[in-house]
Amino acid sequence: MKVAGQGRQAGGTPRAALAELLAGNRRFVSGQPVHGHDVTAAAAASGDQQPYAVVLGCIDSRVPLEAIFDQTFGAICVIRTGGHVLDRAVRGSIEFVVGQLGVPLVLVLGHERCGAVGATVDALRTGERPGGSLDHLVDEIAPAVTEVGLDDPAVLALTVRRHVRRTVHTLREDDLLAEAVAAGRVAVVGGLYDLRTGEVALLEPS
Ligand SMILES: [Zn+2]
Repeated sequence: MKVAGQGRQAGGTPRAALAELLAGNRRFVSGQPVHGHDVTAAAAASGDQQPYAVVLGCIDSRVPLEAIFDQTFGAICVIRTGGHVLDRAVRGSIEFVVGQLGVPLVLVLGHERCGAVGATVDALRTGERPGGSLDHLVDEIAPAVTEVGLDDPAVLALTVRRHVRRTVHTLREDDLLAEAVAAGRVAVVGGLYDLRTGEVALLEPS
């Protein structure tokens, strides 16, 4: 069996990186993960890091990214924010991983029943922003809600998808990523996580 981590290499292709991530998700879904998270694995990866992908996902406790992709230490870089919302720190982190570590794949992973998306829909319906830095999350997700339409009966589910696509689009246009994306050296793709089955499905670009 090809094990995620063995084939990772800085400068690999986006296609190979995506295939490796999705293979890990299939191992997870089938109940046959191969990576333990003990100190032996930590020690084995304690040299220079050569991750092959960066995954940007939500903070939701039901979506632990290394677990759902069956990845071990040193394999992927993970960034998690509420509703995978971008800010300068997140974008700078992705620019670092892609630019300095040579990672060829950025995966943006949304999930159903996302609390950040729900809070944004509520804020737009009531006209009351939550305050504090939560406003940043709401402001960043609000355009996706508006594109879907607050009156749509499936506004929550559709906004999750729309927001992933918007995040992917923003990252593809990023100042330090755009050239590599255009040249095909780096791919930015979107996906959705199914809370019940554990499956990750890729979103077609739109
Ligand atoms: Zn969420």
